[in-house]
Amino acid sequence: MCIHDIERRLPGSRGIVAVHKSPYIEAGEFTRPWVNEMNEASHHVVVVGAGFGGLEFTRALSGVPVRITMIDKRNHHLFQPLLYQVATTALATSEVAWPIRHLLRKRKDVTTLLANVNGVDRAGRRVLLDDGSAVAYDTLVLATGARHAYFGHDEWEPFAPGLKTLEDATTIRRRILMAFEQAERETDPEKRKAFLTLAIVGGGPTGVELAGTIAELARDTLRGEFRNIDTRQTRVVLIEAGDRILANFAPELSDYARKALERLGVEVELGHAVTRCDAEGVVFGDTVLPARTILWAAGVAASPAAEWLGAAADRAGRVLVEPDLTVPGSPEIFVIGDAAHVLRPDGKPVPGVAPAAKQAGWHVAATIKARLAGDTSPRPFRYKHDGDLATIGKRAAAIDFGWIKLTGWPAWWLWGIAHIYFLIGFRNRLAVSLSWLWIYVTGQRSARLITQGDNDKG
Ligand SMILES: Cc1cc2nc3c(=O)[nH]c(=O)nc-3n(C[C@H](O)[C@H](O)[C@H](O)COP(=O)(O)OP(=O)(O)OC[C@H]3O[C@@H](n4cnc5c(N)ncnc54)[C@H](O)[C@@H]3O)c2cc1C
Repeated sequence: MCIHDIERRLPGSRGIVAVHKSPYIEAGEFTRPWVNEMNEASHHVVVVGAGFGGLEFTRALSGVPVRITMIDKRNHHLFQPLLYQVATTALATSEVAWPIRHLLRKRKDVTTLLANVNGVDRAGRRVLLDDGSAVAYDTLVLATGARHAYFGHDEWEPFAPGLKTLEDATTIRRRILMAFEQAERETDPEKRKAFLTLAIVGGGPTGVELAGTIAELARDTLRGEFRNIDTRQTRVVLIEAGDRILANFAPELSDYARKALERLGVEVELGHAVTRCDAEGVVFGDTVLPARTILWAAGVAASPAAEWLGAAADRAGRVLVEPDLTVPGSPEIFVIGDAAHVLRPDGKPVPGVAPAAKQAGWHVAATIKARLAGDTSPRPFRYKHDGDLATIGKRAAAIDFGWIKLTGWPAWWLWGIAHIYFLIGFRNRLAVSLSWLWIYVTGQRSARLITQGDNDKG
């Protein structure tokens, strides 16, 4: 049977379209399962992605006569800036993620769907889901973010997992902890050395934060718990292809961060791109480094939104949007956050950071409100950059606000306060503050459970 024969569209403005394979039909429940009756006839806005951009957009678009459907393939919003702390045993998964449905529970105009989007039918104005069903929209906001990229070497991923999701974080946590466990059992000194060598590829904020925290984990937290190895002998090697780490920061802050890492025992290797990753280790420049744990913190690739739309994209796959964040030729479709490529007035691209995604979400909500009020004039997005922050272990940080640069203790405190402030909910703020206080006072990290199976591939 042809798919068009079995689609059913709900009355009113564009509503939900379901096809034969929909579980709602198969369960005999095809009675508008997710339509808000109150707003059935209103403008339908579909948002894909409940990350920083999509969530901020949904929060900002309130008090107007629209019906919103939020679609995400995960049931939680993730606070990615603290994900490295889950990977390095400082925080539990539940401290950095929250159920989307719960976050939006008070918004009666919002319906949340757990579903994986795999296409957009621009002509038919429908979002396509991987179960074969579709959701129709009047306005579509794509906020599907990005993933890590391996510069054309996807075969490296099983050996060098990146950090983007909770699953990535627990995989990395498991690999780090397993390296020490295997070293404890290994009798061959060379193999033991390879277990006690951890390589981190990429000297941006995530690589720097991972390297500093892993060094502290080995030096402080695990010290004295093993009988056959001295965890203080662990080598943590940070490999960066450029000539300095934290390349987006002022050069003096990059220099500060490198020295702070070296004080923690991290070896910082600059100026060589990685040319091989496998089960034995990593190769960069002329160096062959036997390392049984490799972590990937270099390069991002946008979600396939550009492919879904058949739209032009930059080299990282980000949709080349108009200055008002709409897709060329489709003013009813917006792309925001890490999935979009948009320029600042100075010609530089808006960076892939949480504040940029949030500001874009807020901007699109304001545009839709203006359109509903009859103002359809283009409203260019103006990004305001507040600064760059990175921590180096539990005592140092680098902050670049442009007009002022901070390092050391004051920077660390400011970094901590900013992250606590941006966490969602009092309970999480309290839990994270207590976890950090505990680590600071005792050096002990509580989230040290190895929970995944042996055959994970990252
Ligand atoms: C480890 C790490 C550390 C970071 N640290 C910082 C930091 O310190 N400061 C900072 O400002 N920024 C930081 N960032 C960057 C920041 O997290 C991103 O810029 C921001 O999350 C982008 O927001 P977004 O809404 O575009 O995408 P995201 O927040 O990534 O959200 C995308 C959402 O889309 C959903 N989705 C994706 N594909 C589909 C699909 N096919 N179907 C349905 N749903 C889908 C995802 O499940 C996700 O919920 C960090 C990023 C990482 C990975």
